[in-house]
Amino acid sequence: MTDTLAIKVTKTTSSKLSKTDFEDLPFGKIFSDHMLTADYADGEWKNFEIVPYGNISVSPAMSSLHYGQTFFEGLKAYRNDDGKISIFRPDKNAKRFNSSAERMCMPALPEELFIQSIGAVVDLDRDWVPNKKDYTLYIRPFMFATDPYLGVQPSTTYKFMVLLCPTGKYFSKNLSVKIETEYTRSAEGGFGYAKAAGNYAGSLYPGKKAAEQGFDQILWTDAKTHEYVEEMGAANAMFVIDGKLVTPSTRDTILDGVTRDSIITLAKEWGMEVEERRVSVAEVIEAVENGTLTDAFGAGTAAVIASVADITYKGKTYTLPNPDESVFANKMRKAMDDIKYGRVEDTRNWNYIV
Ligand SMILES: *Cc1c(COP(=O)(O)O)cnc(C)c1O
Repeated sequence: MTDTLAIKVTKTTSSKLSKTDFEDLPFGKIFSDHMLTADYADGEWKNFEIVPYGNISVSPAMSSLHYGQTFFEGLKAYRNDDGKISIFRPDKNAKRFNSSAERMCMPALPEELFIQSIGAVVDLDRDWVPNKKDYTLYIRPFMFATDPYLGVQPSTTYKFMVLLCPTGKYFSKNLSVKIETEYTRSAEGGFGYAKAAGNYAGSLYPGKKAAEQGFDQILWTDAKTHEYVEEMGAANAMFVIDGKLVTPSTRDTILDGVTRDSIITLAKEWGMEVEERRVSVAEVIEAVENGTLTDAFGAGTAAVIASVADITYKGKTYTLPNPDESVFANKMRKAMDDIKYGRVEDTRNWNYIV
């Protein structure tokens, strides 16, 4: 695994594994024994190291703290029924990592180094991949600017790190969704397509307001007119209308999700018609009203398919068909799991075996 990349490994002397309650794994709060770090300086990546998970020391003037030059990725490792550990489509995350890096004026990390870094730390902490249905090891690669300098300019030094979180079943309640017509997640010419920290910071306040009104999630619309659907929270918005899979086409305001791409690929293989195009709010509401909309969901690594129970638009609530009875959503969930957990032949080369 590490023959092309020399990674220095310092193992922990006090593993937390036996003290961790694998029955209670809230998302993002429990970390494995190790983490990976690497430095960028003088125009190159160096010091790839796996060390015990723990605090790091940084300058309070570190530019990412002040100007947000930082972004992340998110993917998962699965314990297959035969004991193998597989990571789902890390090549897609490696590409998106570099597309985020370019937009944030940060250095690229060669795709091979990204994948090998993740593979190495998952391999070392492979006992942390849960052995329970719907439980996974969440992988969080990220990069941040480290120059101790308060001038607004791209940093010359960066850190790349990978953290691992064993995680339980994602809360899969069907969602009450609000179509957002006031706030904006991303605008044309902005960086909504990058997994940049700033996009999430800006979404917290509208998210809090929506939660106070009783909603679980925001269905974001375009910044200019608020008439077109863009994304659902931090997931891609997808619909089944008239038996067709309909989803907003990716552009600079929309994150190009790996889950979205995988669902589109499978739907096409099933012979389903797929439309990637602009999707208007009016069309979605009309399809709910005339009964042609059978599914609405957010697609992302965390929940895979987060189904919508009802949509509220300009104060009026529209109830969708019961998602628990959705043929499409349930078939897609099973198909995705079968691939990720290695229960079917990996004909598309989506599983990276560690
Ligand atoms: C991460 C993310 C997604 C989903 O991407 P996946 O690769 O499927 O996990 C969609 N939208 C936003 C804004 C995201 O941050």
